[in-house]
Amino acid sequence: MEKIKTLRGFRDIYGEEVEKLRLIETTSRKYFELFGYREIIIPVLENTGLFIRSIGDTTDIVEKEMFTFKDLSGESVTLRPEATAGIVRAYLETGMFAKERVSKLFSIGPMFRHERPQKGRYREFRQIDVEVFGIDDPMIDAELIWMTSFILKEIGLEKYAIEVNSVGCPVCRTNFKNIIVDYFEAKEENLCDDCKRRLRKNPLRIFDCKNKQCKEIGAASPVLFDNLCDSCKIHFYGFLEYLNTLKLNVSINKRLVRGLDYYTRTVFEFISNELGAQNAFLAGGRYNNLVEAMGGPNVPGIGFAIGMERLAMLIDKTVKKATPQFFFAYLGDRAKAFIIPFMERFIEKNLKLSYLPQAKSLKSQMRYADAIKADYVLILGDDEIEKNIIVVRDMAKGNQFNIPLDNLALIQNLSAFLEK
Ligand code: ATP
Ligand code: MG
Repeated sequence: MEKIKTLRGFRDIYGEEVEKLRLIETTSRKYFELFGYREIIIPVLENTGLFIRSIGDTTDIVEKEMFTFKDLSGESVTLRPEATAGIVRAYLETGMFAKERVSKLFSIGPMFRHERPQKGRYREFRQIDVEVFGIDDPMIDAELIWMTSFILKEIGLEKYAIEVNSVGCPVCRTNFKNIIVDYFEAKEENLCDDCKRRLRKNPLRIFDCKNKQCKEIGAASPVLFDNLCDSCKIHFYGFLEYLNTLKLNVSINKRLVRGLDYYTRTVFEFISNELGAQNAFLAGGRYNNLVEAMGGPNVPGIGFAIGMERLAMLIDKTVKKATPQFFFAYLGDRAKAFIIPFMERFIEKNLKLSYLPQAKSLKSQMRYADAIKADYVLILGDDEIEKNIIVVRDMAKGNQFNIPLDNLALIQNLSAFLEK
């Protein structure tokens, strides 16, 4: 019979990749806790209108990447392509905006985009999302980068670059739009069809086009950065000063724009050239008008998302295990009966253990211990029981020795004991 397979762009994740994703998640959670961020869990499925309204109807996501369908009652629903829209909705719907002056939130989970699958680009992927509501001061923009640098350092990532820019506010953008429309209109015949359309509807989006010719034309254009209004300039230089105080190295990329309409002022990306064409593993920015545009009060916001799979691709070392893994090998039924209560005391001590319930030979058990990467194998047979000992094999060093069976404490602290 023909086997059913996963959908295009969807994947099963297992083994080492899961360990890496877990490491990214636990490390992030640790620093979110330390910096005072609280978790929010939001639905995966939302009203289609939520995304159209917040992300913008001329963005790539809304134009061609959303998993949108009608549910059984005929309502148009969408699998979330990103988290900010849903978090802003929740911030308003739960009344959080009225209860707290500042809300620092994070959320972790899968996102869905109907894109062409390739390395580092899937139709279901995971993001760690961080959002701060209620502060416009650029210290918080810097804090997000500061906090992230702790997370990346602990994960062991050293080679990456941080690019920052300001995309201004509606005031500077209106002025700049005229400048940019003049520039692109003169070169309109060489733009791709999408960009011809963008030129009328949303000219700033031309900078985000992946088409080679559009990129070349865009690369020589005037930039918004040189046309910022005074208050956006002050905000951006304040941001740079805080980064400097925190000794965080960034470079200004005057052409950095983000693929969503709601950004104002600060935008940033963390990139690695080890990722190839999809080089950003984290991206974010400020969105001072989004909450209001979604029907809420005038509350500034800023946030970012880590692309978990892309960051996992950059962790090359194998993830260090937190606790050593013990494997119990037994020879015969008597030894098997003996080790069951023994194992129970290991679990009570939070020690990681495994065994083969239906072992045939010592050889097959050792092979299994090897496969699951056990750190220590404890071997027990009739002989050992007679002598009141247990054989301990250190798998990394390849040596073995005996320990008195009643010295459970010593066995349980084996790794600490052996490292001395
Ligand atoms: P890209 O330029 O790669 O399309 P984007 O601007 O669409 O990225 P964002 O919406 O800012 O991405 O999402 C933040 C992060 O999520 C990205 O930097 C990336 O690491 C990750 N990401 C985005 N789309 C995908 C995808 N289809 N598959 C895997 N990771 C993704
Ligand atoms: Mg994209």
